[in-house]
Amino acid sequence: MVIWSPFMQSFKKKYPWVQLAGHAGNFQPGEEGCILKKYVEREAECLSGLTSDPKLQDFSPTFHGVVEVNGEKYTRMQDLLLPFDCPSLMDCKMGIRTYLEDELVKAKVKPRLRQDMYMKMVEVSPDEPTEVERNQSAVTKPRYMQWREQISSTSNLGFRIEGIKKSDKDPSKDYKLTKTQCQVCEAFKYFIDNNVSVLKKYIERLKSMCHALGQSDFFHSHEVIGSSLLFVHDSTGEANVWMIDFGKTTRLPSSQKLDHRSEWKEGNREDGYLFGMDNLVSLFEGILVELQQT
Ligand code: ATP
Ligand code: MG
Ligand code: MG
Repeated sequence: MVIWSPFMQSFKKKYPWVQLAGHAGNFQPGEEGCILKKYVEREAECLSGLTSDPKLQDFSPTFHGVVEVNGEKYTRMQDLLLPFDCPSLMDCKMGIRTYLEDELVKAKVKPRLRQDMYMKMVEVSPDEPTEVERNQSAVTKPRYMQWREQISSTSNLGFRIEGIKKSDKDPSKDYKLTKTQCQVCEAFKYFIDNNVSVLKKYIERLKSMCHALGQSDFFHSHEVIGSSLLFVHDSTGEANVWMIDFGKTTRLPSSQKLDHRSEWKEGNREDGYLFGMDNLVSLFEGILVELQQT
């Protein structure tokens, strides 16, 4: 039984659809090469904006409107897995910050204590909670998110690996503590199976994405938080990367623009998205040099 696939997708061919990260139950099969994701206004607006931006439309799933199924609203979008044959996937969450400034403000004004997040924290680092947190057996959401950023490569490299699934193997989300350049590169090499041709395609695609993002007004006028790059390749040598997950992507006031590379200071809303992409490209290029020498 295929336990890692939430459903079989059926359009032109039948294949087990893979959900690497995110919450179980958020996705449904869609028709004509589409999937349905539980509707979040911000995400639908962002996907619609990206789909209408000629510079960026090729870098994210195409938006196909909002539909209702059994009384529940869904965003209908292109299924990126369709062109692949038993693909390998990697989800990298981009940016140096994984929560919105709004969430930080709310947590300061009215801290909501999360026991579930406390449990997840002590499971990985039993000594991490402070005495106060230990006494209340709970932490706030920003505290948990900041801790996740510190133990992973989010804080030092501006991205982190959320999960990897290699073609016929089970997916792994065991990358919470993958932090150093060396650890990240080991995971990348495992993911691409030292395949130089796939690696070159990823590098080219990331470079053109970086260039397009740098020139896009849409991108500079949005705070992009919790969004991922989805890397997909298969044994035929097909390889591609897209931007996904825009539930926390927020339009800025018209007077504000982000460069997505500057350091974050509370209030400037910088997200480090391009800082993360620069690092991704340079680590991939380092791996390419290494593989070409051996
Ligand atoms: P999170 O907890 O990260 O906010 P989420 O519920 O918002 O998760 P996403 O991150 O958008 O969900 O997607 C979860 C997973 O689903 C991705 O890692 C990827 O494997 C898959 N996925 C998402 N969108 C697509 C798409 N358009 N085509 C193919 N696969 C997708
Ligand atoms: Mg996600
Ligand atoms: Mg999300």
